Amino acid sequence: MKLKTLHDLDPKGKKILLRVDFNVPLDENREITDDTRIRKALPTIQYLASRGAKVIVLSHMGRPKGQFLDDLRLDKVADRLKELLSEPVGYIHECVGPGVEDAVSEMLEGEVLLLENTRFYHGEELNDEEFVLEIANLGDVFVSDAFGAVHRAHATTAGLADHLPSYAGLLLEREIEVLSGILKEPSKPVVLIMGGAKIDTKIGVLRNFIDKGDAFLIGGGLASTFLYAAGHNVGDSLYEPDKKEIAQAIMLAAEKDMDKFILPQDVLVASEASENAETLTVPVSDIEGDMKIFDIGEKTIDRFCEFIARAGTVIWNGPVGLFEMGPFEEGTRRIAEAVAECPGVTILGGGDTIAAIKKFGLAEERFTHVSTGGGAMLEFLEGKELPGIVGISKSES
Ligand code: ADP
Ligand code: MG
Repeated sequence: MKLKTLHDLDPKGKKILLRVDFNVPLDENREITDDTRIRKALPTIQYLASRGAKVIVLSHMGRPKGQFLDDLRLDKVADRLKELLSEPVGYIHECVGPGVEDAVSEMLEGEVLLLENTRFYHGEELNDEEFVLEIANLGDVFVSDAFGAVHRAHATTAGLADHLPSYAGLLLEREIEVLSGILKEPSKPVVLIMGGAKIDTKIGVLRNFIDKGDAFLIGGGLASTFLYAAGHNVGDSLYEPDKKEIAQAIMLAAEKDMDKFILPQDVLVASEASENAETLTVPVSDIEGDMKIFDIGEKTIDRFCEFIARAGTVIWNGPVGLFEMGPFEEGTRRIAEAVAECPGVTILGGGDTIAAIKKFGLAEERFTHVSTGGGAMLEFLEGKELPGIVGISKSES
């Protein structure tokens, strides 16, 4: 894939529509609890501003579904961006209209102006032509740095690329570089660790890696569905009975190479998800009654860790247990530590997976790449063509 990057662009004097992912979590007082996403967009903003561009920043936050909701305004983001840049940042409470046009026309080279939450407009998620054009008319160039949203065909993630010369920002460039490398020629052996709650978002990646992957380590709620599909009693665990056939098909496809698809051999069970739950480790053949699987067991952890230690490439998405609660965190903690120690290429992504490494005090630097996209990373690794990447990789017209 040939990507148009900032190296292909002379930003001086240009009005640049920069789409970022400032979808940061806020607490009940609307204070930002984690500003990682803002920090990760800084290099591109600084790159463009320092070269004399007028940087018009666009982002979504949450799911306002076309409504102006006070809770989802970008005011807190604007404040934090100012602090982090140590520069004034303009902030205007709309994305389109005369007020925005005036503000843009008054911008000087090197200035940064943040527009309002793009999802306050129905046109954003609909990729509505009129809305796209109104925004496109504000700028000369489109730069996308919102990897977390490139799997969405929205106005400001994809639509703008139809009307303006378009480029990938530094963060997006790095994401695509690392993830394409994994798809093209990963260092062997390739070990996929998949956990988390739902099978749907993960199944495509498993499929795409059936031939490329050397080991699939399955944990989390996902494992319960696979165990069920393999004929085990999973008691009262969280699993998806309607995904039985899909799960069986995946296992069948992997079976050509025996021992490639590794389900837990033992699991940690409890009768309730609580901080003081009584837990028990049992072989998967002994699950019964109201037992609920909340983590992988000791033997499984050891086995997974052996694979991880020998991996040339590790791709990890999804905690292997309900790690948010003390009694069920051990599996995810030891997997996270093993991945951090692995001398091979290590890639991880997903909101909860990143929350897990934070909880266990593992700095991002301990891994080769921590992706800013959960869904986007998975869809990219499925080998899909993503709407937000198509427009920045086509040849210049
Ligand atoms: P990510 O956000 O990293 O992509 P997911 O959203 O797919 O991950 O899933 C993460 C969630 O799955 C976590 O909240 C975790 O507590 C939950 N989970 C993992 N294993 C289990 C389990 N055995 N039972 C219930 N929930 C689980
Ligand atoms: Mg999640």
